[in-house]
Amino acid sequence: MPPAAPAGGLPWRPVSRDIEQWFAEQQGREQRRADACRLKQWFATEAEARAHALMQRTQYGEQRHAYRCPVCDGWHLARARPDA
Ligand SMILES: [Zn+2]
Repeated sequence: MPPAAPAGGLPWRPVSRDIEQWFAEQQGREQRRADACRLKQWFATEAEARAHALMQRTQYGEQRHAYRCPVCDGWHLARARPDA
């Protein structure tokens, strides 16, 4: 038997709470992305980022790829996926 709706409960209330939770999650995600951005090396151009990636591969054997950052509009280096 399905649980009965709470007497006198406002039907829009749970929906509103869901939106608040969703909003908080989105903000948290943005914050984590911004943190990751600040911690990373920043490059103004793709060429610069790629040159640095190449240098790291030559020096440390680390596979990196340059990607455009949606947060700061610059370029960062990401670790290549292990399975890539
Ligand atoms: Zn960034």
